[in-house]
Order: sequence, then C-alpha cells, then structure tokens
Amino acid sequence: MRLIDLSQEIYEGMPVYAGHLETKVWQHHTFADTAPNFDSDFAFQSLGITVCDHGPTHVDALSHLDPRPGAPTIDQMALDTFFGDGTCLDVTGVAPREYITARHLDRAASDADLREGDVLLLRTGAADERGGTAEYPSQYPGLDQSAADWLRERKPKVFGVDSPSPDNPADRIYPVHLLSRETGITHYENLANLGEVVGRRFTFFGLPLRIRGGHGSPVRAVALLDD
Ligand SMILES: [Zn+2]
Repeated sequence: MRLIDLSQEIYEGMPVYAGHLETKVWQHHTFADTAPNFDSDFAFQSLGITVCDHGPTHVDALSHLDPRPGAPTIDQMALDTFFGDGTCLDVTGVAPREYITARHLDRAASDADLREGDVLLLRTGAADERGGTAEYPSQYPGLDQSAADWLRERKPKVFGVDSPSPDNPADRIYPVHLLSRETGITHYENLANLGEVVGRRFTFFGLPLRIRGGHGSPVRAVALLDD
C-alpha cells in the first residue's frame, strides 16, 4: 500500500481565487512566551491561521452552490461522501481558459477503468504547471456543458480537479457547479500531484473539517494505491 498526497500546501502568501479571503499565518505562542507558565523546562509554540473555507485543497459543501433552504452545510454532509474507490483521467493539453469537452473526456476514459459511483479525478495539469504562482488562480481550463453532461451520465460519487475550479474561469454559466447543485454530487478543487495517480485505481480520502455551518472545508486529500 502506498499513500499519495493530493494536497496543496497552506502558507501565507499562497495564491487564492479572486476575491477569496487571503491566507494569514502568524506565530501566536512562542516557547519564550509560554515558558513562564511552567515550573519545568516545558514550553510550547503554536500558530494562528485564517483561511477561506474554500482554500486551498478543499471540498465544496452543497450550501456553497445551492441557494435552496436546507442545502447541507459541510458539517451536515454524510462523512462517507468524502472517500471511496476511484480513478483519475488525464485531460492535460487544454490551454488555460479554453474548454475541456465531452470529446476530451471520452478520449481520456477510453482506456480507463471508470465505474459508476467512483471518485472521479480530472488531471488538467494546472497545479503541476502553475501551482503557487500568481497566474494559477485565473489560468486554467474548465469543462464546458458537454463535459458537464458527460459527468452527469457517468454518475460519479464525487469528483475533483487539480485547478481552482472545474468550470472555466472565462465562463459565465458555470455548468459544472450547476451540475453539482442539480445532482447533489459535490467536488474537490485545488488537488495536486494527480500525475501520480492517472490511469490507476485507488481509494481516495478527502475528509473535511467539521466546521459548523461551513460552505466548504480544506481537506488533506490522499490516494491509497495498492502497490
Ligand atoms: Zn466549487
């Protein structure tokens, strides 16, 4: 068994999606601050962190994208939504702000072992090529309506991308987020290292934090491989 880390790093100054809360990290306690609290040589340090509930590697709660009353927040979603067997399709080669279509997905799936109810990850290459750069939050391809329809037909349990969004940043419709709203099938964003799991079967884990009323949550996404 081998664990592959599919998560991006969290740090102050990390690029975030336009308008999202910026990540702040600071030293909250130092060893010197806390040493006077103890009569031994014990002391501790800790950080303060503020982070958007949509950054960096994260899963969308349905309440993020569905305005209907009762759309579940992250703490109300069944925990077994966030793990399962699946595979990763390679849809690299589509330029930033261009569309990934059903044809791309068909080609990528032609020699893949993709099953109904899978965790379906899509490798666009955005994180590998531009992760951590100022371009990353706006320069990535996204799925068009035909690709969203393709996803709907394949009935994944959940899906995810190695880019800030499965939708094209130049798109004003957001067919994939609408698909998640309509079907209740949510998705992960800002995954990493998908090149290591392309074409493989694996067990995916991406458990959200139990944030009361959260509209999403950072996750530590991993794939468990059989070898
Ligand atoms: Zn999303």
